[in-house]
Amino acid sequence: MSGLLPCPFCGNKNVSLIDRGHARPRWEIRCNCGGKNGGHETENQAIESWNKRKDCNDEGFAKGYQAALDDIEQAANNFYEYAREINIVWLEAKIEELKEKQTDNKLATNQRGEG
Ligand SMILES: [Zn+2]
Repeated sequence: MSGLLPCPFCGNKNVSLIDRGHARPRWEIRCNCGGKNGGHETENQAIESWNKRKDCNDEGFAKGYQAALDDIEQAANNFYEYAREINIVWLEAKIEELKEKQTDNKLATNQRGEG
């Protein structure tokens, strides 16, 4: 699409102008990376808004973007650790449960054997 700056997130020059509106127009620019700029009443508004966005070459923006990525990575790691702990606790409980069942079964078998 000519007249559109590349995607500020990934640098892709092949971004699309689409109308995702139903009852009324909601124009937005979209990139394959997931970058988009909301809904606008006119194509021109969408294009203007897209082109006003800060570029990743802008140092401040790049830093903020990197910090956000780091936060996401940290959150994902925390979640992974948490999920792992929860899983271990759950597995340990299941193992105990199975051990108890095994013991109960043995007791039941022994009792039947005696009777
Ligand atoms: Zn992109």
